[in-house]
Amino acid sequence: MKKLLCIIIALSMIFTAFPMTAAASTVATASGIISIVNSWTSGVELDREEIEVLVCNHTPGEAQENNYGGFSISCEICGEVLESWGFIINKSTGAITGIIGNYPTEIVTPDTISGVSVTAIDQYVFNMNAKLTSVTISESVTSIGEGAFQGCTSLTEVTFKAQTPPDFGANAFRYTFALTAINVPCGAGEDYKTALGSNADKVVEATHTPGEPIEENGFMVTYCTTCGAELYREEV
Ligand SMILES: [Zn+2]
Ligand SMILES: [Zn+2]
Repeated sequence: MKKLLCIIIALSMIFTAFPMTAAASTVATASGIISIVNSWTSGVELDREEIEVLVCNHTPGEAQENNYGGFSISCEICGEVLESWGFIINKSTGAITGIIGNYPTEIVTPDTISGVSVTAIDQYVFNMNAKLTSVTISESVTSIGEGAFQGCTSLTEVTFKAQTPPDFGANAFRYTFALTAINVPCGAGEDYKTALGSNADKVVEATHTPGEPIEENGFMVTYCTTCGAELYREEV
């Protein structure tokens, strides 16, 4: 019993100090022990039989957006967080400076995290990250730091939401050998090609969305509802 208490104390210390990061390595091996920790800290004395009853094998629920701009997956039965990740953001600059928790394979930056506008991906944040396969950068981001995605060898697709390209630091996408598509909004292709330099050949511009034709000075003119570009002009 003494030994078990030591484990429980050690575990409860881990879980209270690092609620997000601990889930990564500990939950898989310590399935159910969380229940014991909870019962023990709430003052319930447990014997061997009760401990066995309390073991939860965990049923992962749906991924839910969390306060860190990332996603968490909790056990449907006991509510324990099984997987979780989010962004670390510099609250004064709005720059994403890292990831907390289990490293995701797909990243979508939100426009705001806890009320802070996300304006930049800091330099080398995702440098040499082999897990990352897809990244979507929100409209709010105006700067991609030097080497931000350098050496992301599994990265195949990057999507930018902003009509105006962000400022790209040197080597932002260097050594991303799997990268095949940099998706950009319609009408923004040329600007992104100029901004991306050596990666210009990977730019894929979205197709325009034609609106209803409007009569203008004897012409029926069709504009794109997304970027406003004139698409067709026909004499009436
Ligand atoms: Zn569970
Ligand atoms: Zn368009």
